Amino acid sequence: MSKLNVHTAREKAIKKFLHSQQESQSVYELVNGIVNGDKSALAKAITLLESKNKDHTTLASSVVHECLKHSGNSIRIGITGVPGVGKSTFIEALGTLLTKQGIKVAVLAVDPSSSVNKGSILGDKTRMESLSTNKLAFIRPSPSSGTLGGVANATRESILLCEAAGFEVIIVETVGVGQSEYLVKEMVDFFLLLMLSGAGDEIQGIKRGIMEMADALFVNKADGENKLMAQKATQAYSNALHLFPAREDSWIPKTGTCSALNHQGITKIWDIISKFKTEQIANKAFEKRRQSQSKSWLMSQLENELSAHFYSHPLIQENLNTVIADVVKGTKTPYAGSKELMDLFLGNKTQ
Ligand code: GDP
Repeated sequence: MSKLNVHTAREKAIKKFLHSQQESQSVYELVNGIVNGDKSALAKAITLLESKNKDHTTLASSVVHECLKHSGNSIRIGITGVPGVGKSTFIEALGTLLTKQGIKVAVLAVDPSSSVNKGSILGDKTRMESLSTNKLAFIRPSPSSGTLGGVANATRESILLCEAAGFEVIIVETVGVGQSEYLVKEMVDFFLLLMLSGAGDEIQGIKRGIMEMADALFVNKADGENKLMAQKATQAYSNALHLFPAREDSWIPKTGTCSALNHQGITKIWDIISKFKTEQIANKAFEKRRQSQSKSWLMSQLENELSAHFYSHPLIQENLNTVIADVVKGTKTPYAGSKELMDLFLGNKTQ
């Protein structure tokens, strides 16, 4: 090695060392801030989680790792319903009720539309005015870019960070119009579906599958002239829920009416959630659900990593389109095409 090369190699090593020192310092500062309940450290760590920069995500993942031992101690509540049903009004009402009791509340969001337009929900401060200035509350809007899977991953890790920061109730809000409910269901303990009266399920865009996932289904805006209609709708939903098969965790989904605007029915819903937590901890369903969620999270993370690794491989990038074209033309079977690509990826010799 020439003198010059030795010099640059040493410089590089020093730089690397300093960088890793700085990194562990940043991790230490962030973790320390988070476990001491510092909301700006929490917000900063979540920003790193959502970043596309690899250095940021590496740093964030160290922070999440360090926070893991401080997490888990909360009730995670998913809230869904079509835009306009009253989700943010409801969260504001529930959050106000809880913070008055000294309970710390974090609100996160999974909004698949936010990467396309400005987002139809959530968590944004203008929609939850009093909660956003509440010392005991932390509100974080949905990340505005990335795939739905990526957004969901960042939200899962954000839940852990919020718990480490001492938030006892974590609310994850999502819109009731698609895939996002299934992802949110997989990261929460309790799933609340808000509905409107006077609109058919089809009109509300709520699929049967989403109703089936609900631990409680409440008809909102049960006030004024709408009250009676809301009660009737609740009865219909209650009948529909009875038709679903009994659940493994033995919870019977609850139904009712509320008026988020008038803060009515909110205590009743919180009582249901509290009862759910007590019962499910006692019968071990709570822990079991979290364990199975962690397992699915690992598996989906692994699939994402594998697929990213596969598609970024130079030989796959070079040959994928040709193989697709051959399969489309019918000159190659999908089986042969996939085997050829896998062989290229794995470096197997093909005959
Ligand atoms: P989101 O899109 O589901 O978050 O719905 P919002 O919370 O933004 O509410 C949509 C509109 O419905 C707003 O004008 C609210 O004031 C109104 N709203 C929300 N909850 C109630 C309620 O309980 N009763 C009535 N009458 N209006 C409500």
